[in-house]
Amino acid sequence: MSSACLARAAPLETRARPVVPRRARAEAPRSAAPRRGAQTMASRVVCAASAPVPIMVNDLTGKMGRAVADAVVARGADQCFLVPVAFSGQAKDPVDVGGVRVEIKSVLDGDPGAVLDELKQTYPGMIVVDYTLPAAVNKNAELYVRHETPFVMGTTGGDREKLFADVRESKLPAVVAPQMGKQVVAFQAAMRLMAENFPGAFKGYTLSVTESHQSSKVDTSGTAKAIVQSFNDLGCGFDIEDVELVRDVPTQLGRMNVPEEHLLGHAYHTYKLTSPDGTVGFEFQHNVCGRSIYAEGTVDAALFLAQRVASKSGDKTLFDMIDVLKEGGMVTN
Ligand code: NAD
Repeated sequence: MSSACLARAAPLETRARPVVPRRARAEAPRSAAPRRGAQTMASRVVCAASAPVPIMVNDLTGKMGRAVADAVVARGADQCFLVPVAFSGQAKDPVDVGGVRVEIKSVLDGDPGAVLDELKQTYPGMIVVDYTLPAAVNKNAELYVRHETPFVMGTTGGDREKLFADVRESKLPAVVAPQMGKQVVAFQAAMRLMAENFPGAFKGYTLSVTESHQSSKVDTSGTAKAIVQSFNDLGCGFDIEDVELVRDVPTQLGRMNVPEEHLLGHAYHTYKLTSPDGTVGFEFQHNVCGRSIYAEGTVDAALFLAQRVASKSGDKTLFDMIDVLKEGGMVTN
């Protein structure tokens, strides 16, 4: 990393010092109104990590990376701050995120490991967030593992078995999750619990599933597949091939009611259950517009990870969003 980069980094770190004295934050009341209560929970996570968490976002010139970078800045300098260097597939012009000038380096040129090592020295406790491309998942994870940099992997695809094996073997703390939307993950987990506790409860019911995504998504939603599995364990006997995939704009606007500004980024799911005689109906929906739900979940995952690294508690080092949810340190700004 260039010395120019370090020279810019120093004032950022100074500015990112906690605004609220640490003791005052630790003593914040727990029995406040819901929003304050939620913030107290997040503060608890940050307090355990004892300092604002430096977060490096690769690649923040991508759509998800940018959403995460914005969420890091919005979360507040008392909890976390953006590291002013990011990796991309190629070097690019610096990017301004909420007043932080971020240098964009190529992860494929030079010595990215040396860059990581230097950043870790400058920003102790740094967490990396990865939203890149499926083709980059394993190489990037190998880099983070080799240089002992705890990471949150939001990127989907790649060789997942290898990814999990690499992380487990290294014992490097990491959160890996193809779905960072905390509320969606919670719904998914609730359906699993229902299936495990009441197998066959919907035996004989007919299920229909409709999902709508931007037209560039060709495959069936992974979340829909997981939820259908739970419904099948509840007795529905649904073939995943029968999921209705809506990818055309007129249906999205007309039948699905997707707001026009979110045609290029939405995830709508409807599951309908009808009793054998047609007298009883159930309907479950989760409709997501934009990327903020994933970005917020990612920041929570990074804060969770920082806390785990600081506390060195337990043998487990590979986490998912269920672990983050269980910790309770989730906030939706
Ligand atoms: P995008 O195409 O907008 O951004 C990807 C970026 O990665 C590009 O800027 C590209 O230049 C960069 N890149 C390419 N190779 C790289 C490398 N080796 N190292 C670093 N950067 C590299 O894509 P997106 O919409 O931001 O999605 C990124 C990933 O996130 C996809 O896999 C997508 O499925 C996943 N995703 C996950 C969640 C979740 O909840 N976990 C939510 C949304 C999207």
